[in-house]
Amino acid sequence: MTERGLCRRLQPYGSSIFSEISALSARHNAVNLGQGFPDFDGPEEVRNAAAAAVIDGPNQYAPLAGLPSLRHAITAWYQRWYGVAIDPDHEVTVTSGCTGAIGDAMLGVLEPGDEVLLIEPWYDSYPASVVMAGGVCRYAKPASPGYVIDRDVLEAGVTSKTRMLVVNSPHNPTGRVYRESEWDVIEAFCVEHDLVLFSDEVYETLVFDGVHRSALARPELRSRSIVASSVGKTFSLTGWKIGWTVAAPPLTEAIRGAHQFTSFCVSTPLQVGAVVALELPDSYFEEFLRGYRSRRDQLVSGLRSIGLDPIVPQGTYFTLVDLAPLGVDDDRAFCERLIRDLGVAAIPTSAFHEDRRSGPIRFAFCKQPEVLDQAIERLSRIGELLP
Ligand code: GLN
Repeated sequence: MTERGLCRRLQPYGSSIFSEISALSARHNAVNLGQGFPDFDGPEEVRNAAAAAVIDGPNQYAPLAGLPSLRHAITAWYQRWYGVAIDPDHEVTVTSGCTGAIGDAMLGVLEPGDEVLLIEPWYDSYPASVVMAGGVCRYAKPASPGYVIDRDVLEAGVTSKTRMLVVNSPHNPTGRVYRESEWDVIEAFCVEHDLVLFSDEVYETLVFDGVHRSALARPELRSRSIVASSVGKTFSLTGWKIGWTVAAPPLTEAIRGAHQFTSFCVSTPLQVGAVVALELPDSYFEEFLRGYRSRRDQLVSGLRSIGLDPIVPQGTYFTLVDLAPLGVDDDRAFCERLIRDLGVAAIPTSAFHEDRRSGPIRFAFCKQPEVLDQAIERLSRIGELLP
């Protein structure tokens, strides 16, 4: 038989940078500030609710759109935080995390050859999902280090075949929270070019400066947006893979059309737990943010104390350090040496650019304070690796 491997359309995406760095990190017993997952688990009452559901049921397939109780809890979530009314029956789909939401949306919405505009630096599953769905990626390239989205940046990537724009705020990996004026630009751009907007809002509760605006709260975007989020980040349950999309009925129908054949439905007992999570009192979210603000400040000041110049993220649990001014011109090779020689893992952001050019490296601070301290201590020898 002819040897078969990864299909040609996925070859450019190789293996995910997150798995690669995590594997190398494990091999070298490094402190892993690469892949973004907390080293602590979400609230006990949420895990207890899921555990009880595993013992007592339900343990059989959920409806493909998600348990009605979870779809209602998601609806209440958008009312509670953004004052937006959602129809749980026709506008919500529970997916396998936000990554599942991205895949289902691309597969359900795109026609072969449809172009999707991605903004650099992007999350690595966007281009791969577009390509799996038969779409074509185009790129908008805001200038670093500001990464501000303006009309010219977006217009440069649009053609008559563009069908969708993908945005992400709070933004991984830059830690930016879009300004009101950027949302104005996005809204006008989508209306003018008649685009679907895919708005990845998975870091919605991790905002330190500014406010998160949901695309759903904008009248002109409400009917053309697919908003995706999950319980992974907000409730420190990334391994549950419970996410969702919210979109107007025709878009939801498209998403469900794909979802029924990619996953059909996602873990039923964990959906029961997710209901308890979404209904937690305000005090949970205040404490959650307080904890993250303190970890952010700890990592940022730690990095500064050893002579680095990290950005202070407005949101997410990531910070970026640009080592180009210190002479680093290959972020990937540098991250490998950081793991091998110093025992600290970070993500090279070249993985999030079309031309893979070297960029800043990303550190995650969703870790216990002592782990962050240990990372800083190890990184204090970073000078030895610099040219
Ligand atoms: N969202 C996580 C990050 O950016 C990674 C998720 C994954 O590994 N696919 O680090």
